[in-house]
Amino acid sequence: MKPSVVKRMLMGEIISRFERKGLRIIGMKMLYMTDALLEEHYSHLKDKPFFPLLKKSMQATPVVALCLEGVEVVRVVRAMAGVTNGRNAAIGTIRGDYAMSNQQNIVHASDGIYAAKEEIERFFKPEEIFDLGDLNFNSLYAVDEVDL
Ligand code: GDP
Repeated sequence: MKPSVVKRMLMGEIISRFERKGLRIIGMKMLYMTDALLEEHYSHLKDKPFFPLLKKSMQATPVVALCLEGVEVVRVVRAMAGVTNGRNAAIGTIRGDYAMSNQQNIVHASDGIYAAKEEIERFFKPEEIFDLGDLNFNSLYAVDEVDL
């Protein structure tokens, strides 16, 4: 969750959308995006003219990193986030419901499994990710959808 969420005090609302969907939170922390972290995280945008603006907005407050767990979670969370520009994002998506901006677009969401693995390692120590076991799988999935 980006600084605009912290500033607008929407943290609980955004978290509750992931929980309502049935995604389990297995890691969560507030952290400050240092220059080094940002340059690594947004390395594909480093040479874009808007990078200084993006950097400033991402350092306005701490961000909240979430590690979510679920079947096909990366694809599901990308779909929940919606397209980059909040003005174009479908109503019902997070960006579509909470953002009017291309930059101030509420959440980052990993764009693939490889990126997700890299980002978990970027933001969390191994001991900050928790194994919740099969706690509530029977209310979230059919038995043939999960490896128990
Ligand atoms: P994402 O995967 O949907 O987040 O999109 P990108 O990886 O392309 O961009 C990363 C982030 O950079 C976006 O989420 C926006 O916050 C920001 N961003 C993208 N395009 C622009 C732009 O044209 N102008 C500004 N100011 N920020 C942008």
